[in-house]
Amino acid sequence: MPPPPTPPPPPRTPSPGTTPASRDAILTFHSIDDSRSVVSFGADDLERLVATLLEDGVSVVPLEALLAPEPSGRPRVALTFDDGYRNVLTEAAPPLGRLGVPALVYVVSSWVGRTNRWPGQGDGLPELPLLDWDELRAWREAGFGVGAHTATHRRLAGLTEDAWASELAGCRARLEDEVGVPVPHFAYPYGDASAEARRRVGAVFDTGVTTRMAFAGRAEDPLALPRLDAYYLRGAPGRSLFSFSSRLILRARAAARRVGALRRSARGADGRPGT
Ligand SMILES: [Zn+2]
Repeated sequence: MPPPPTPPPPPRTPSPGTTPASRDAILTFHSIDDSRSVVSFGADDLERLVATLLEDGVSVVPLEALLAPEPSGRPRVALTFDDGYRNVLTEAAPPLGRLGVPALVYVVSSWVGRTNRWPGQGDGLPELPLLDWDELRAWREAGFGVGAHTATHRRLAGLTEDAWASELAGCRARLEDEVGVPVPHFAYPYGDASAEARRRVGAVFDTGVTTRMAFAGRAEDPLALPRLDAYYLRGAPGRSLFSFSSRLILRARAAARRVGALRRSARGADGRPGT
């Protein structure tokens, strides 16, 4: 991404996610392909990014490990993949397996085996196939984790009681039934983690990840964990992830605003599709 013409001023008070003590990060990926769409990240870039992190002494850990302190002070990263694209199995699993690192995919349970054309998906995004149940089981059998991303990828606001139950508990039950492992982790569609959504998610899941762009601090709410979208790391060497965190955050936020404004003007919608 080119730098914005007028960078925003730095925040007056750094958030916990931008202090030097914040040594953890949850990275968000979507589709692993070379199309360079806003939801795409190349497989070679993924392998290079993770390899660089490992070379720099970063621990790549399961998401739940970030909830416990790291006495050594080593920085830690958890890898997450939203929406359950098929290419996560075909393109991401092989390099991640070679590198021996864990990863978690957040699945839209009623769209398994279909494509990412759920209502509200941006028209500008490529139509991409999603994992089917056999492929999701293969992902799990390769040692990777499965999380929930609702039943239908709808925005979690103004739902009826039945819809809340279907999108949260129903999604978890379906995934656990099909995949055969506990599914305690959740990702909010569009990062929409309102107080009501967090309360309801907390009744069903142990963690909830958002699209709030920040490193993970020491005392994060496990139901509103921040993440860094890998979209903003494209072309950046992995070692800049922790060394220049504040600059990265500012640049990422500026880019996010620019992308959001472009998209709103293009199709009259808000939010970052595919998340
Ligand atoms: Zn999503």
